Order: sequence, then structure tokens, then C-alpha cells
Amino acid sequence: MAMWNPWRGCHKYSEGCKFCYIHKGDYKRNIDTNTIVKTDKFTAPIDKNKKGEYKIKSGQVVYLCFSSDFLLPDADVWRADCWQMIKERQDLHFIFLTKRIERFLDCLPEDWGDGYDNVTVGCTIENQEMADLRLSIFSILPIKHKNVICQPLIEQVNIEKYLNDVELVVAGGESDYRARPLNYDWVLSLKSQCVNRNTHFQFRQCGTYFIKDGKEYKIGVQQLCSQAKKAGIDC
Ligand code: SF4
Repeated sequence: MAMWNPWRGCHKYSEGCKFCYIHKGDYKRNIDTNTIVKTDKFTAPIDKNKKGEYKIKSGQVVYLCFSSDFLLPDADVWRADCWQMIKERQDLHFIFLTKRIERFLDCLPEDWGDGYDNVTVGCTIENQEMADLRLSIFSILPIKHKNVICQPLIEQVNIEKYLNDVELVVAGGESDYRARPLNYDWVLSLKSQCVNRNTHFQFRQCGTYFIKDGKEYKIGVQQLCSQAKKAGIDC
């Protein structure tokens, strides 16, 4: 696994951005998240060592743009270079998440066709309104590998009709002392929708406030993922 953040910074875009970890981290370090800047890792996938070998070794999954949104308008001038690097590294698999899936077709390289084999796109939704808006677009886009990321999930959602060609649905809660609670019933509902559509499902993290059987629990940040895993409901 490798990380590639060609630029950093982002603008809050919808309800799911309320407690964005990038904004929170930047606030502590006195960095303006709304200023979008290229990083010194911009060319990371094609950087080589003294022996002329790629520094990012072959066969890895590369998490792309996890300190921004890959489809951010501010980055339009840089994205074509990223597609070139993604194309050069057919031996890597790239995954990015976005809340701006409506921009997807305007952000593609000319030879995209029905998708690059080595790219997974994760469409992020947080509530039914964003599910209907974004997944109705996502479900008809030419993408070889599709994930739906329901994190932070802030209400019950029905996405079953949008799961054509989706490989994986991820559910997770919000992490913050002011976070909106995650109800376990919403997670179980998503899982059963995935089972109905033969789609993989992963419960990735609880919320800071987690409701199960009508009782609310407060969960420390270090336990959010391990507690979700303990539920044992991935499929
Ligand atoms: S789109 Fe993602 S990175 Fe950008 S502000 Fe929202 S949560 Fe943060």
C-alpha cells in the first residue's frame, strides 16, 4: 500500500464534510485548508531511485488524493499530468474517493474509454439526498471498478437500486466529540442491501457516538475501527 497526495487542501462541500479530518488537522497546525497547493510528492508514482527503479514498488494499491478531493476544480490544471502517471504505472492500482462525482466526465483523459483497468473510484455519500444525487450519476459512469463509501453515515440510506457494477460498499461513522451518532441499524440495513445485490460490504468504523439496541455508546478514536471489525459483518 502507498499514499500519493499530488496536492493538498479542499473546500467543504456537503454535510459529510462537517468534521473533515483534513480541515481539523490543518486547523491545529494553522494551515489554511482552502488554499490548494501542489505537494512535493506530485510525481511520486514515477519517481525513481539511483538504480533507475520506481520508488513505489510494483503491485501495490496507491491511495490517491487522501488529503483533498481528486475532482476538485482548483486542481483541474494538474489532473492531466496525474492521469499520465497513472497510465504509465499499469503495475499499480490507484484508488481515489470523491464527493464531486458530477464533475467526473469533465475530468477525464481523452483515452479513458470505458475506464482504466488500474483505477477504482469511490463515490462518497452521507445521507439519502446525496445518495440519490451522486449515485444516480455514478451508476451510469464508465468506470471499471466502483466503490460506494457511506462514511460518515449520518442517517439511514437506501442505495440498493444504485448497486449495479459496484464492487464494494463501505459504511462508517463520524469521528469527533461533536459527531452525529451512527445507528447500528443503518449499518445492518446497508449490509442486507449489499447481500441482496451480491455486493461486498465492509463496516469500516464505528462513530464516536454509536447507537446499538437503543443505547448510545461513546467510543474512543483508537477503537473506532477495531470495534467495527469485532461486529464481524463484512462480506
Ligand atoms: S470533500 Fe473530503 S477532503 Fe474535501 S472537505 Fe469534504 S471531507 Fe474534506
